[in-house]
Amino acid sequence: MKTPEQLKEAVARLGLQEWDHHPCMFCGYMTKYVFKEDKAYYDAGCKCENSGDVTEVDWVSVAEYYNSMKGPKMQQQFRHFFKFEEF
Ligand SMILES: [Zn+2]
Repeated sequence: MKTPEQLKEAVARLGLQEWDHHPCMFCGYMTKYVFKEDKAYYDAGCKCENSGDVTEVDWVSVAEYYNSMKGPKMQQQFRHFFKFEEF
């Protein structure tokens, strides 16, 4: 489990700009989190399921998404992405 601060810190330290979320089930567009300066945004991309806007999100919701992963494979993928020692 990670806190919002831990994720924010990792993004800044690694210079991460994007974090894939999930492909749209209709058109395949990869929705993603976008990181700019010290803020996080969610890029809904296509307009199949919603407005497709890029909206600012708080780091709490980024952490909630990270912490919501249940399967060991996805947990490992997430952990590697942020270069954490453990999930
Ligand atoms: Zn779509």
